[in-house]
Amino acid sequence: MRSFSYQRASDPQAALQALAATSAVNAPLTQSPTQPLAGGTTLIDLMKLDVMRPERLVDINPLAGNWAEINLDGGNLKLGALAHMSQVAGHAEVQQHYPVIADSLKLAASPQLRNMATLGGNVLQRTRCSYFRDVSYAECNKRNPGSGCAAMDGFNRMHAVLGTSDQCIATYPGDFAQALIALDADIEITGKAGPRTMRFAEFHKAPGDTPAIETVLAPGELISGFSVNGRWPRSVYLKVRDRQSYEFALASAAVALDLQDGVINDARLALGGVATIPWRVREAEGLLKGQKLDDGLAERAAAVAFADASGRQHNAFKIALGKRVVAHALKKAATMEI
Ligand SMILES: Cc1cc2nc3c(=O)[nH]c(=O)nc-3n(C[C@H](O)[C@H](O)[C@H](O)COP(=O)(O)OP(=O)(O)OC[C@H]3O[C@@H](n4cnc5c(N)ncnc54)[C@H](O)[C@@H]3O)c2cc1C
Ligand code: SF4
Repeated sequence: MRSFSYQRASDPQAALQALAATSAVNAPLTQSPTQPLAGGTTLIDLMKLDVMRPERLVDINPLAGNWAEINLDGGNLKLGALAHMSQVAGHAEVQQHYPVIADSLKLAASPQLRNMATLGGNVLQRTRCSYFRDVSYAECNKRNPGSGCAAMDGFNRMHAVLGTSDQCIATYPGDFAQALIALDADIEITGKAGPRTMRFAEFHKAPGDTPAIETVLAPGELISGFSVNGRWPRSVYLKVRDRQSYEFALASAAVALDLQDGVINDARLALGGVATIPWRVREAEGLLKGQKLDDGLAERAAAVAFADASGRQHNAFKIALGKRVVAHALKKAATMEI
């Protein structure tokens, strides 16, 4: 591991100043020489692997006093970026009113990791593509722009079938982001000019020609929180993986439904494990609205969700698997007791 300097920020202003003073504004955030440190479960991991090489870390954990809230006042939800995954997953009211959030966090990583890891760090976690994480492979456009992609003709079983480009086919690995998208959440970003809010669905960037740019977050900015309007008790996160615990998704679906007399008034659907970014499928949502869910409709919505999917040598199975996950998650959400 390379040497780096460490600075502990006492409050948001101090953190922003430390980041602004040393961030290279024109570099992609992922390659910025200064990185905020939250739980460290992604960042320190990638530094040990020599994938990320920051020269300076700004520890933002002291900001938890400002940015770790779990607030359900007024019928909405606010989550601070420094809330730990385990705190949110175990929160009784989050479980009751937003089961898709509680389950997406509970089904992620391990208890020890969830105790350390924060929500802000979670949505910024990086792909588990083994060629990205192993620097002995020279070809990786995400790690080393312009070098090629070892996964295209390599072992690509875990890779994406949606949102890929001819530069990168890496899967976005997280779970919580799909829940946020299914709830139409907002993300709050704080920079020198103060906080700004945007749709979380617009936060991640598909690889296109610049796979090293993964989000709209700029160097020197921090995620301060997330918010969801209304309650979504009829919501589900379904995750299928190679083993039932401590494993990333092969395919997952986050579903939120609003049913009135059995008819779908509103439907939200996001896919994980199969796409390069957390993937919202609005066409499938449109098909569901105004209908009563039965097996046929669930399967048609699943087919629409994967209409643009394209598999490679080892990952084509994810298309059939993903459709089953979507259909099952929709049926589970429609029939759950609330
Ligand atoms: C073995 C293992 C298994 C895992 N399994 C899963 C899984 O199944 N599902 C899943 O979803 N995740 C999984 N994870 C990922 C884990 O959830 C993330 O590593 C964790 O959520 C990251 O949070 P952190 O606070 O530790 O982030 P850090 O490692 O501290 O930070 C990650 C990145 O985000 C930046 N950052 C952190 N906070 C902020 C902020 N507030 N504003 C701006 N930038 C910030 C950092 O600079 C860094 O670049 C797994 C991780 C490991 C190691
Ligand atoms: S899929 Fe993306 S992350 Fe993986 S080797 Fe190719 S460019 Fe790198």
